[in-house]
Amino acid sequence: MPRTTDVVICGAGIAGVAAAHALAVTHGVRNVVLVDERPPLTLTSDKSTEAYRNWWPGPDDAMVRFMNRSIDLLEQWADASDNRFLLNRRGYLYTTADPAKAAQMRLDAQRAELQGAGRVREYRSVADAATYRRSESVGYTDHPTGADLFLDADAIAEHFPFLSRDIVAVLHARRCGWMSGQQLGMYLLEESRAAGVTVLNGRVEAVDVQHGRVAGVTVAGADGTTTPLATPVFVNSAGPFARSVSALLNIDLPLFSEMHLKVAFEDTLGVVDRGTGLVILDDAQSLAWSDDERAEFAADDETRWLTEPLPAGIHLRPEGYGQSRTMLMLWDYHSAHRFDAPVLPLPDDPFYPEVVMRGMVRLAPGLAAYVDRLPPVYVDGGYYTKTAENRPLIGPLAVEGAYVNAAFSGYGLMAAPAAAELLAAQIVGSAVPDYAGAFALARYNDPRYRAMLADWGNTGQL
Ligand SMILES: Cc1cc2nc3c(=O)[nH]c(=O)nc-3n(C[C@H](O)[C@H](O)[C@H](O)COP(=O)(O)OP(=O)(O)OC[C@H]3O[C@@H](n4cnc5c(N)ncnc54)[C@H](O)[C@@H]3O)c2cc1C
Repeated sequence: MPRTTDVVICGAGIAGVAAAHALAVTHGVRNVVLVDERPPLTLTSDKSTEAYRNWWPGPDDAMVRFMNRSIDLLEQWADASDNRFLLNRRGYLYTTADPAKAAQMRLDAQRAELQGAGRVREYRSVADAATYRRSESVGYTDHPTGADLFLDADAIAEHFPFLSRDIVAVLHARRCGWMSGQQLGMYLLEESRAAGVTVLNGRVEAVDVQHGRVAGVTVAGADGTTTPLATPVFVNSAGPFARSVSALLNIDLPLFSEMHLKVAFEDTLGVVDRGTGLVILDDAQSLAWSDDERAEFAADDETRWLTEPLPAGIHLRPEGYGQSRTMLMLWDYHSAHRFDAPVLPLPDDPFYPEVVMRGMVRLAPGLAAYVDRLPPVYVDGGYYTKTAENRPLIGPLAVEGAYVNAAFSGYGLMAAPAAAELLAAQIVGSAVPDYAGAFALARYNDPRYRAMLADWGNTGQL
């Protein structure tokens, strides 16, 4: 006889764990089963940079309001757990050396303010910037919200001395920071287990649909056993495999995946301020090579890309507190390669650490000291699984009782709390926030929305 359950969630990454928490802890749903073929939180959710932000582009205010709600929940849980997952409020610093981009940054900041991201304070001189409040290294309470926009090179040099002297604008978005994603996930999982959630190790291989609605799920164990689960509700939180899991319901989700890597190294020379927020260079750039190196790379089809312009968005942040010297660095120059079905293990990129270090020199020139003799590095990463406009898929599917909670791209840790809250409200039939429609699969049925996709603009991806 199949075991009877109330909800089966496929995937115990941060999205599935947060969904189980919202159902069991917030709504008291008793019999929730989280199914995963891996140990919880070990595929994508432990590869994240663990950062969060309420700083998102349009075209409407849905992402800002969604993320503000998620950050409200993170703060509530941090309050309730004595900040077990080390939530900080260091902010994100968007930088540019391009005056045209600086002007655009100012317009974007004004729009973000209107959308609810908070007030923007502008500094056009060293004297103006005297009122700027630096972030505390730890904690998340009593920090400024909104953003501080520096448009004066001397003020930038005074407050951010590790940055390149040609940076002409720095936008410090304040309701942003980072946390320990693993600790957040374990906190939610422990609370969920205490509220009756069970974790079943195995692979969801089939979803049984009877008379147009979900009736059960078949789980295959690594030992060859098969566990049938009877359930009226099935949630697809399968991360990079959300598309193939939905195919079990004969539903095609408009998803693709991009490989994203990150590199950690020890900044033993203390080049980057350890108290900084996450710093992003908003400018595309070409790497500096010697004439011989450039000629050699350009002559080979495999390496020519190293001599061509590489995209904007390279970013770094310090990792750890106290004596830690670890620095995390990311540069998304792989996203032109899209995967319909993600490949594991991840494809190798032996160039990544050196390319990222060279690119970072544009942002923080002191890092040039590491270029000729690269320090030991640790590289890992995963997939950003996403929709074309980089917004998530949360809500019901065409089969009754089936839901999706996926497509969290590069923001799944920060989005998981509000996504879980929205999904659980839909499952139990309570009131949903008014941004629900912005994340429902059904949005693609609207011809006006489809027309907007062609001209979406900035998707906010980092
Ligand atoms: C390099 C990098 C940096 C990032 N930085 C940030 C950041 O700073 N901030 C942020 O918020 N986000 C960041 N992200 C994104 C974030 O990590 C992801 O959005 C998030 O982890 C996705 O969580 P998930 O639960 O949807 O997927 P996953 O964590 O991948 O979990 C999906 C789970 O589903 C399971 N599964 C799949 N198919 C089946 C099946 N058939 N049966 C059973 N189990 C199945 C898998 O085993 C897996 O455990 C980053 C990601 C990367 C790669």
